[in-house]
Amino acid sequence: MNSVALVSGASRGIGRATALLLAQQGYAVGVNYLSNEAAAQSVVDEIVNAGGRAIALQADIADEEQVVAMFQRLSDKLGPITALVNNAGILFQQTTIENLTAARINKVLSTNVTGYFLCCREAVKIMSHRHGGNGGAIVNVSSAAARLGAPGEYIDYAASKGAVDTLTTGLSLEVAAYGIRVNCVRPGLIYTEMHASGGEPGRVDRLKTHLPMQRGGQPEEVAQAIAWLLSDSASYVTGSFIELAGGK
Ligand code: NAD
Repeated sequence: MNSVALVSGASRGIGRATALLLAQQGYAVGVNYLSNEAAAQSVVDEIVNAGGRAIALQADIADEEQVVAMFQRLSDKLGPITALVNNAGILFQQTTIENLTAARINKVLSTNVTGYFLCCREAVKIMSHRHGGNGGAIVNVSSAAARLGAPGEYIDYAASKGAVDTLTTGLSLEVAAYGIRVNCVRPGLIYTEMHASGGEPGRVDRLKTHLPMQRGGQPEEVAQAIAWLLSDSASYVTGSFIELAGGK
């Protein structure tokens, strides 16, 4: 069967590493991006230059029409999706509850939660045996913050990731009989640009000494776990969570 993956937020960080690894493993890859077309195209070029198949797909995952159009384009160009990686996410600056605004909370939830729901919905419509599909696998990228709560830092973000965890559990049960596995990874402190957008570029180095493994993780280490969960090696794994948090 033709393996076709969509990775959201794949122009950099964990999404980029995952898109590149999946392409190495033989998937045709849809490289979703929000605004940095050049960065997404460089991921596509790297895959194509290595002999793989990939296309860049612009879409805001929080926008229903854009998500529907993205899945249509993926089907048209690469074939029906077999693997979805819900990875795109946002994190705002550290703050306490007194300073959280409705606008910020809604922005975080619309991307980190609604966006995941919409992409799951479109993938399930194509993958599900119930609709004549061939099955498939979904991996949601949550966060250790879902377990830890992130008090005084990003409780909005942590709560959004708690919702991702519950989405994973509920959807895995809903679609298990229709040939779709749904799993989740929970990264801890990973070296990506997300920490800079969250207002603290050196965050991983500041906090790594608190981790049992005494180091932050690399995006490629997260990508390996995602790729395994999507693969046939994990054919009896659904509704599961893998912690990638250096032991914390
Ligand atoms: P990153 O900021 O480098 O990448 C996130 C990507 O998502 C960016 O390319 C961004 O443009 C994209 N994005 C944001 N909003 C979008 C939208 N509405 N539509 C489409 N794309 C959108 O961060 P990262 O560390 O690679 O994060 C990837 C995932 O891993 C996120 O879900 C994040 O919450 C999670 N995570 C990261 C860490 C970490 O320490 N870096 C830890 C735990 C979880």
